[in-house]
Amino acid sequence: MVGPGAPIVATMRALLTSEPVVWSTPLRTRFRGLDVRDGVLVRGDAGWGEISPFWDYGARESAVWLRAGLEAAEEGWPAPVRTSIPVNVTVPAVGPEAAARIVRSSGGCTTAKVKVAEPGQSVVEEEARLEAVRDALGPGGRIRIDANGAWDVETALARLARLDRAAGGLEYVEQPCPTVEELAAVRRRTDVPVAADESIRRAEDPIEVRRLAAADIVVLKVQPLGGVRACLRLAERVGLPVVVSSALESSVGIAAGLALAAALPELSYACGLATVHLLERDTVDEPLLPVDGAIAVHRPEPTERSLAAVRASDATAARWSERLDAMVTAGERA
Ligand SMILES: [Mg+2]
Repeated sequence: MVGPGAPIVATMRALLTSEPVVWSTPLRTRFRGLDVRDGVLVRGDAGWGEISPFWDYGARESAVWLRAGLEAAEEGWPAPVRTSIPVNVTVPAVGPEAAARIVRSSGGCTTAKVKVAEPGQSVVEEEARLEAVRDALGPGGRIRIDANGAWDVETALARLARLDRAAGGLEYVEQPCPTVEELAAVRRRTDVPVAADESIRRAEDPIEVRRLAAADIVVLKVQPLGGVRACLRLAERVGLPVVVSSALESSVGIAAGLALAAALPELSYACGLATVHLLERDTVDEPLLPVDGAIAVHRPEPTERSLAAVRASDATAARWSERLDAMVTAGERA
C-alpha cells in the first residue's frame, strides 16, 4: 500500500483479524443502472462487515459506508427487540408479466415496492406494471412506489393520481421529487403518504425533512448513514416511522440492515431488505431471503467455499484496494 492513506490503512487493518475480501457478482436483473455488484468484506472481533459504496460515490461519501462496515466487524450491533423482519419484494422497472412473476416468487411477501420513473418509460407502462403487481398480490397486499427523485411537483401530483388508481391504492410514494421543499409541497397536495430516502441519506441535514414536514416515513439504509447505531440515533431525532432498506448489499451487509430493523423501538412497515435475490451469487452459503414474507433476524457467516464463489478478479480487487485507501483517508479527515 502506498500513498498518504497507507499508515491509516495499517491502523484499520490492525483492528481486523483478516485481510479484506473483495467480492463481485453479476446482477440477475439490471438495477439502478448496474449489471454487476461488488464490494469488500472485512472481519474483526465481532464478525464480518461489508463495505460496498456504489462506484458513483466519492471518497468522502464512501467513508461513511466504511464506518458501517467497521462497526459490524469490530463492535457488532445493539440487542434486538424482535426476531423476524417483514420485508417487501422489490419490483424493478420491468414489464407486467415479469413484475407478476417476481411478486409470485418473492417468498410470500405481501408488500411490493415498485420502481417507477425509469427514463424512457411511459406512465402507461407504469400503470400496467402496478396493475400486474396488484393482481399478483391480491386485494390485501400493499404497494409502494419509488421514483428516486425523478419528478417535479406537478409531474409527481399528476403521476400519483394515476398510479394510485392503477395500484388500487398506494401505501406510500418514496422520494417523488429531488428536494425536501418539493417533497413538502407534494405532501401538502396528495393523500398518498410520502417517504423520504435520498433526502435523508444524501442530505447535508437529514432533520430538514422533519422541520419542513416533508415526509410521513423515512427510509434508513445502514451503510450510507454510517452504521446501525448512527441510524438508531437518526431515527430518534427524526421521530417518524422508519423503513429499513438495503443498498443492494450481499447477505453480510443485509445482516446489518436486519440488526437495525430488529433494534428499532417500533417497526410498523415492511422493510426493503429482500434484495439478495437480485444478485446472481452471494457471499454466504445461505442467503438472507424471506420465508412467509419475513426474514429471521440472524447473521450468516461467510465460509471459505462461499467466498471462493464470489471472489473478484485481480483487477477489481486492485481497484477496491485503492478505493479503500481513499475512503480511510477521507474518513480520517472528516
Ligand atoms: Mg429509494
